[in-house]
Amino acid sequence: MSFKSLGLSESLLKAVSKKGYETPSSIQTKAIPPILEGKDVLASAQTGTGKTASFTLPLLHVLSENPKQKYRNIRALILAPTRELAAQVHNNVKEYSEFLGLRSTVIFGGVNQKPQIRTIRQGVDILIATPGRLIDLENQGVLSLKYVEIFVLDEADRMLDMGFIRDIERVMKLMPSKRQNLMFSATFSKDIKKLAYSILNNPEQVEVTPENTAVEIIDQKVHRVAKNKKTGLIIKLISEGSWKQVLVFTRTKHGANRLTKKMISAGITAAAIHGNKSQGARTKALAGFKKGDIRVLVATDIAARGIDIPLLPHVINFELPNVSEDYVHRIGRTGRAGASGQAISLVSADEISYLRGIEKLIGMSIDLEIIEGFEPDPNASTEPIKPGQNRNKSTSRNNKSKKSSRNKNSNRNRNRNRKKN
Ligand code: ADP
Ligand code: MG
Repeated sequence: MSFKSLGLSESLLKAVSKKGYETPSSIQTKAIPPILEGKDVLASAQTGTGKTASFTLPLLHVLSENPKQKYRNIRALILAPTRELAAQVHNNVKEYSEFLGLRSTVIFGGVNQKPQIRTIRQGVDILIATPGRLIDLENQGVLSLKYVEIFVLDEADRMLDMGFIRDIERVMKLMPSKRQNLMFSATFSKDIKKLAYSILNNPEQVEVTPENTAVEIIDQKVHRVAKNKKTGLIIKLISEGSWKQVLVFTRTKHGANRLTKKMISAGITAAAIHGNKSQGARTKALAGFKKGDIRVLVATDIAARGIDIPLLPHVINFELPNVSEDYVHRIGRTGRAGASGQAISLVSADEISYLRGIEKLIGMSIDLEIIEGFEPDPNASTEPIKPGQNRNKSTSRNNKSKKSSRNKNSNRNRNRNRKKN
C-alpha cells in the first residue's frame, strides 16, 4: 500500500514524502479512502498511530479539488481538546498544505486573542481550534462557521472526558447542516458512539484495534514500592540508569509539580506540563525535552495526550492511571515505529486493583520486581483510594490501635460501612 494508491494529489504526495513517510499506517489506509469519497467517518485507533494525517491529508485534498469561493471563508473546522493538540494539528496542516494554496490558523485560549483575530480577518480556509476560544471569538463576531464544509472532531474521547460536550453541541449549531463530519478517537466507548450518532450522518466506521504486539514489544515492569518511597526510587532509577529522555506520568497536577521540584533538587533537569501551566511554559518545556535539555518531563494524562514525541526510550508511571486504557496510551509513547522501549510502573498498595485491571485489559501479567531499600509497605491497605474518599479520615479512628492491626481494623470498618450503605 502506498500514499499514491490512496488517491491523494501530487502536491500532497510531495508533502508526505518531504515529511519522510514511506507507507501509510493502518488507520490512514482505512480512513483516507472514505473521506476522499465525501463520507462521514468515525475512526478509532490508539494514540501514536497517525490519526492526524488520516484526516488532514484527505481534508486538504477535498478542499483543494473543490472550486475556491470568491471570498476566503472557513471551509474546514478542526476541534481539538487542548492547546498542545490544536497546535500540533496545525503544524501538520501547515506541513501537508505546503504545496497547496490553502491558508490555515490555530486559535486557543490562555493567550492574547488579538493576533488570532488579525490572522482570521485576513482570511483562512482551515481553522484549528479549542472549543472555548472558538465560541468566544464567534460570539464577538470575529469569525463565522456558516461556510464550513468539513468538520473534524479530533481526540473525541478526551473532549468528552474534559467536559466539552455542551461546547461541541453549540459549535454544531453554528455550522450549516450539510457538511462532511469526521470523528477521531483513541478509544471507542459507549459515550463516543452516542456522540458519533448525534454528529455523524450514516458514517463509515473504521477501527484499528490496539495490537497486542504493540504492547508486547514494550518492555514493561512493575516495581512494588511503599508510597512514600516512590520519589526516592524514581530518582534512583533515572540517575543510576543515566536515562536521558524520560516521560513520567502522575495522576494530578499537584503531584506533577511536587515531583518535578524534587527531581530538580536531586540534580535532574525536569519540567512539568499540565493544564495549569501557561502556554508559554508548556511549549518551552516540550521544546526543551525534545532537544534534550530537559531529561524528565512530568505530565498528567490530559496534558500528555497526543503530544508528539517520537521514539521515547522510557516511560514511568509514578502512579497508575485509574482508567486501564490510559495505561496503554501512556506506554504507547515508547516503542513507537518499531523501536523498543521501556515502561516502568511504581505501584503502591492502594494501586493493586488498578494493576489487576490493566493486566486484564492487556491480557498479560507484568513482570514484578522489588528494589532493595524500596520495598512495599507491609502494613498498607491494598484498597484503592476512591475519588472523594479521604483515606486519612477513614483510618484515623484506628490510629490509636497498634500499627500492625491498623490495616485489618480499617478494612473491617470499611466493610461494615459498605454493608450499611
Ligand atoms: P495519533 O493522532 O494517532 O496519536 P499522530 O498523528 O500524532 O498520532 O502521529 C504520531 C506520529 O507518527 C507522528 O510523529 C507522525 O509524524 C508519525 N506518522 C504518522 N503517519 C506516519 C506514517 N505514515 N509513517 C511514518 N510516521 C508517521
Ligand atoms: Mg491525535
